[in-house]
Amino acid sequence: MQAEPVLIVGAGPTGLNVALALVRRNIPCRIISEANRPGEQSRAMVVQARTLEFYDQYGFASEIVEQGVVAETAHIREGGAQGSREVLALSFKEMGAGLSPYPFALAYPQDDHERFLMGKLKGLGSEVEWGSKLTGFTQDGDGVRASIEHNTGRVECVAASYICGCDGARSCVRETLGIGFPGGTYQQHFFVADVKVASGFSRDLTVNLGKHILTLMFPVRSSGMQRLIGLVPSELSGLENIGFEDIRAHVEPLLGIKVTQVNWFSTYRVHHRVADRFRVGRAFLVGDAGHIHSPAGGQGMNTGIGDAVNLGWNIAHVMQGRAHLSILDTYEPERIGFARSLVATTDRAFTSLVGEGVAGEFTRRIVAPLLFGVVTRFSLGRHAIFRTISQMRIHYPDSSLSQGVAGEVDGGDRLPWVHDGGQSNFDPLRSLDWQLHVYGGVRKELETTCRGFHLPLHVFNYGDAARDAGLRRDALYLVRPDGYISLASPDQTDGKLSGFVRQFQLGFAGL
Ligand SMILES: Cc1cc2nc3c(=O)[nH]c(=O)nc-3n(C[C@H](O)[C@H](O)[C@H](O)COP(=O)(O)OP(=O)(O)OC[C@H]3O[C@@H](n4cnc5c(N)ncnc54)[C@H](O)[C@@H]3O)c2cc1C
Repeated sequence: MQAEPVLIVGAGPTGLNVALALVRRNIPCRIISEANRPGEQSRAMVVQARTLEFYDQYGFASEIVEQGVVAETAHIREGGAQGSREVLALSFKEMGAGLSPYPFALAYPQDDHERFLMGKLKGLGSEVEWGSKLTGFTQDGDGVRASIEHNTGRVECVAASYICGCDGARSCVRETLGIGFPGGTYQQHFFVADVKVASGFSRDLTVNLGKHILTLMFPVRSSGMQRLIGLVPSELSGLENIGFEDIRAHVEPLLGIKVTQVNWFSTYRVHHRVADRFRVGRAFLVGDAGHIHSPAGGQGMNTGIGDAVNLGWNIAHVMQGRAHLSILDTYEPERIGFARSLVATTDRAFTSLVGEGVAGEFTRRIVAPLLFGVVTRFSLGRHAIFRTISQMRIHYPDSSLSQGVAGEVDGGDRLPWVHDGGQSNFDPLRSLDWQLHVYGGVRKELETTCRGFHLPLHVFNYGDAARDAGLRRDALYLVRPDGYISLASPDQTDGKLSGFVRQFQLGFAGL
């Protein structure tokens, strides 16, 4: 009997990524959005390296990179409304060199990004159902029954195998499940503006660490404009209907620019919250439905995409009968831990940087530039910053799917990128499936085991690149469909691989 489709509620970057992960694996799904058409607001501006690595697995990372602007340098400025100066220029290329095929941050507006993903979905025969609003659902051991109100007035009752709540901060899925969304709302107002500047289009990022921290400037390729995001000065926060002219005198000296045209301006408030749970039975919370926080670090959308990639392969493999149901239990602990620490760190950083009085001033003007300056002087520090911002640092050490250690690489770590003489160990990840990696030599017994399981085995040269990445010669690394290491074992013959495969009833597709 054909399985009921997976119902994906929401067609933002998260929902579109869940859909891609399922459709690419031939899992039937429906993706609905209460909006009548695709979004036109370019909220998230930064696509991080880890997201590009996921897109590399789908084979379209370079297409996205071409459409955005590769931001190679971030200019850190310091100062108040009376004027500011550049204190540091950070090269992303230097910070990420050797760590990822994408050692940069990509400026690519969210609306362009969503349209791009929709195009990819359409190419796979799947389209968003616009004007279709989830109004509630029930579930039992056999499935989900959801109620959808279409903009034509028709009400539809839909049967689904799972429901993925990718329906943003006001999630109907979360509310129907009665899951708490504790946290708070920052008192500051943010502004966002699309502007032209007198000095012409700049491809770099500018971050001001002055009195109004979070005055950021990004390039938008498709419009040739610059995107400004920042805090509305506190003395203006009582004003109704703030426009760009109200803040012009504050913003221009901070960023060292002269704005000649304003295309779009808006203000908004920011929340910091994490849902108490990400899963109840057959229902999952994904993306902003589960976590929201300050846009300061450019992490929100990328975290939602990471959730989507994680959940997508879990559901697909369970529905294909290629993994034990317990694989679904790993989604919440793997992703909620990161969401909580992200919200806590962005909250701490944001609160101390925007703090009023002498302490806030001291952090902004002295501590932050000094810290950045010192840390980025050393390659270890530069790498640590890049790993954190790019989301490459995300790992799942406590997951039941993460076992063993070999060299400096643990079960649960992202597979380190090894590029050696034109050969990249990321290329086989395009199968979107389980695979075994060995760097060095393979014993006959292991080859036989892999053949027996139809588990693809990839053998790489153990050179300087593999050693520098912390991999151990001749060890085995079982890699998950999302590029994380599940099992790391220094020993090829001790039965750990077979035990692992049996424990999770894994089925492999072969080469
Ligand atoms: C100004 C700004 C700047 C930002 N900058 C960045 C950045 O640089 N980097 C970054 O990573 N993040 C950034 N973010 C955060 C980012 O925009 C969000 O994290 C991202 O949009 C979340 O995507 P999502 O798909 O989870 O939710 P959303 O984009 O909110 O999508 C929710 C979807 O659900 C649909 N929906 C809602 N309710 C229903 C229902 N009942 N039935 C059917 N459909 C429903 C909506 O129509 C929509 O399609 C920024 C946010 C803002 C506001």
